[in-house]
Amino acid sequence: NTQILLARRPQGAPVPEDFQLTETAIPEPGEGEVLVRHRFLSLDPYQRGRMDDAKSYARPVALGAVMECSAVGQVAASRDGRFKEGDWVLGGYGWQTYSVRPAKALIAIDPKEAPPSTALGVLGMPGLTAWVGLEDIGQPKEGETVVVSAASGAVGQVVGQLARIRGARAIGIAGGPAKCAFVKDTLGFDAAIDHRAPLDPALDAACPDGVDVYWENVGGAVQAAVFPRFRDFGRMVMCGMIAQYNTATGAAATGAPPGPNLGPVVRKRLRIQGFIVNDTGWQRYGRFRAEMLGHMAAGRMQWREDVAKGLANAPAAFIGMLEGRNFGKQVVALD
Ligand code: NDP
Repeated sequence: NTQILLARRPQGAPVPEDFQLTETAIPEPGEGEVLVRHRFLSLDPYQRGRMDDAKSYARPVALGAVMECSAVGQVAASRDGRFKEGDWVLGGYGWQTYSVRPAKALIAIDPKEAPPSTALGVLGMPGLTAWVGLEDIGQPKEGETVVVSAASGAVGQVVGQLARIRGARAIGIAGGPAKCAFVKDTLGFDAAIDHRAPLDPALDAACPDGVDVYWENVGGAVQAAVFPRFRDFGRMVMCGMIAQYNTATGAAATGAPPGPNLGPVVRKRLRIQGFIVNDTGWQRYGRFRAEMLGHMAAGRMQWREDVAKGLANAPAAFIGMLEGRNFGKQVVALD
């Protein structure tokens, strides 16, 4: 079993030396457990938080332990009646080639329905995040304007497409011309804005009547530019603030501007709410998946993955994702 361990806690942005590649024996499943051979690993921004020894909604990865992630793979050995060798499953654990999991922690997936890697992206946790955050907080209505940051990414791409399906206008913010072209032309957003160029004129042009829903994935300068544009009764879906994940003290150390003046929250009767997809999202997974498969089959839902090859390349892909070098949902394909 090849594994990547957390060798030390990063100081600021992670570097390759924070990770360590190692070999151990392939574990054996006990009664009620399944050995999963990983085919795709999911690299997600939250894993940066798990590398710090800070109080959060989840426990940090211990030093010397395998890096946390979710994986899609095939059953290599089963000691549970629900799964047999060769079955595709979602629910493998860790930056490693094999994991032993309780059968009840696994979700069966059908590779004929959709490519297995989509269970980590458009049909998995990031897609579910988009769906849940819109259902519970964003609640876009016909004709409203929804602005999405990190719009070409795993969560953002689904947010904008679902907003359009719900009858809203979707404006995506992404880094660079290639991502912006993808957001507009392939994903079908109404407009795309490059956050590396001046934001104010582009937001003025794309949102002349203001913003009803802002989907926050990024924080920092993007948040500061969008926030003053809220219309009355706007909703701010606090999904994440990746621009600040590499700095324990938040914005100060990155040189990012301070946050917006929150005064208008009262005058405009804004709603700002955070959420964690794992709280209640998976209880609605069946409804989400059925809706998404319908959109995918009808050509209403596009998706893009950024596939790194081989476990040894996971640290570089992860470090790159935190800097915006991924183009689409970041996964690692294993042989
Ligand atoms: P993405 O696929 O969107 O990848 C991250 C992207 O963030 C990069 O490609 C980059 O896009 C953008 N980015 C990184 N640094 C900066 C920066 N300094 N300024 C602006 N943009 C930056 O990741 P996900 O879709 O997986 O995650 C998106 C957000 O959703 C994250 O904040 C994540 O933590 C959060 N999340 C929250 C969940 C919840 O339950 N609340 C669940 C899942 C995700 P670009 O090149 O366009 O700038």
